[in-house]
Amino acid sequence: MAIETNDTNTREKSPNFLEEIINEDIAEGRTRVQTRFPPEPNGYLHIGHAKSICINFGLARKYGGKCNLRFDDTNPVKEDVEYVDSIKRDIRWLGFDWAVERYASDYFDQLYQWAVELIRKGLAYVDDQSQEEIRLTRGTVSEPGKESPWRNRTVEENLDLFERMRSGEFADGQKVLRAKIDMAHPNMLFRDPIMYRILHAEHHRTGNKWCIYPMYDYAHGQSDSIERITHSICTLEFDVHRPLYDWFIEALAIFPSHQYEFARLNLTYTLMSKRKLLKLVQEGVVMGWDDPRMPTICGLRRKGYTPASVRNFAEMVGVAKRDNVIDLGKLEYCVREDLNKVAERRMAVLNPLKVVITNYPEGKSELFTAINNPEDESAGTRQVPFSRVIYIERDDFMENPPKKYYRLSPGTEVRLRYAYLIRCEEAVKDAEGNVTELRCTYDPMSGGGSSSDGRRVKGVIHWVSAADAVEAEVRLFNPLFTKENPEEVEEGGSWEDNLNPDSMIRITGYLEPSLRGAEAGKPFQFERVGYFCADTDSTPEHPVFNRTVTLKDSWAKINK
Ligand code: ATP
Ligand code: MG
Repeated sequence: MAIETNDTNTREKSPNFLEEIINEDIAEGRTRVQTRFPPEPNGYLHIGHAKSICINFGLARKYGGKCNLRFDDTNPVKEDVEYVDSIKRDIRWLGFDWAVERYASDYFDQLYQWAVELIRKGLAYVDDQSQEEIRLTRGTVSEPGKESPWRNRTVEENLDLFERMRSGEFADGQKVLRAKIDMAHPNMLFRDPIMYRILHAEHHRTGNKWCIYPMYDYAHGQSDSIERITHSICTLEFDVHRPLYDWFIEALAIFPSHQYEFARLNLTYTLMSKRKLLKLVQEGVVMGWDDPRMPTICGLRRKGYTPASVRNFAEMVGVAKRDNVIDLGKLEYCVREDLNKVAERRMAVLNPLKVVITNYPEGKSELFTAINNPEDESAGTRQVPFSRVIYIERDDFMENPPKKYYRLSPGTEVRLRYAYLIRCEEAVKDAEGNVTELRCTYDPMSGGGSSSDGRRVKGVIHWVSAADAVEAEVRLFNPLFTKENPEEVEEGGSWEDNLNPDSMIRITGYLEPSLRGAEAGKPFQFERVGYFCADTDSTPEHPVFNRTVTLKDSWAKINK
């Protein structure tokens, strides 16, 4: 699959193919738009789901329609209320709300009655073959399958056996209910698909009421029909299921919902399979579903992403009909754009070099006024303390600077953001020759942007007063995988071989005091460093900050 890096910003103006379909429907008088988002509660939602949410809820919003939230809870073994709760929280966080909350399990009675109806019509039968036998007799694309010896049971026998399946007489796997269609059908899904299997398992909603559970193909379309869904939008791999979706609806003569498919979202350096994400959680490779390195919505939230940045990203990548892979840089571009508007600025030093201002009185301290957000005047100002010993970034000093290096070096002058001009008089070194401290002097007349004689300097650097600094654990994140396509493995290897050992780097940072007690998730720009927020692990005794994204925008540079 090609990696798509071109700018798709322009695409939002023309309708996407789903909007075109709806526009045509409306032109033909079918004006009602009812969509649904149908997650299986077997894991946390990820950025791919976010795209599906934006499409389904977005279309309903745009056309004055409704979008339901329907939990596809037909597999009791893997599902859990923990997931149901997280899914609802994540959809709301993204800024959407559902018309009604439904569960496929709400429809188990109706689905059962419809199965009875199909048996009566001679369109379903109970098969005693094992699932393995059924698989082996399904045939191949080029060869027809073999009919089950139980295929021609009478309607009465099927009704009786199906009822007994339901009442718990048989063990798991002993029998299944199959649709009676065509064992030679070119679409393999039509070769007598399984409608119900026996599963003696407790369900998180229906408890022990049922020991037979409907399969996806039988449950999904009928659930859509019950909810009178007009546009049942799903990902591309379901296009081969669409004829079967239609077949059940026609056989039952119920509300004709229609299915439409779009390309699922793939991102470079990212895996989105819930099964694999669950494995990372269970094996402790990450700190949980909400680990900031996870592609989950709660992971992005914890990392400092805003709902608007995720929505903008979904809009930007658009709705495609063919599979592609989106550059992870686009997602970072979207969060950077939004944070630039909304994040308050702060000063923090992540790789400190101590600076002693030798002519500044010992014990003295003063406050400078700093602007919270140059993009938003209403964010106001704050006071930043200054004193004799400060930290600057190690990168902001060079002993032997190249030309056009405007930061500090022996004998040169630089502006401390919001505060004074300082001149580097001496670099103190340890026995190995490493610079351990700078001794500088300041111009007392240069506070807040001026100078004693009108001179100007080019370099402005950030700093933190050492005595006032908040020492914090700062977590720097890199992609969780080292390969653009994490599934690309050597023979005999596994996707886990591609995990990035440096996906989280913990360092100690020195933050200006106003960051003490920052609310988890509230975004800040650490000036000249990147975007950060306090982590949910953060406490007043042990502050923890996450890097949401760096300031540098490699994607926009390449593509604009
Ligand atoms: P996974 O393969 O990660 O388990 P899933 O498709 O089984 O995902 P569901 O809970 O069934 O997960 O998905 C709910 C909805 O989200 C479905 O309509 C599905 O098509 C959509 N969806 C899932 N993954 C993506 C993706 N990567 N891009 C766009 N839509 C997605
Ligand atoms: Mg699914």
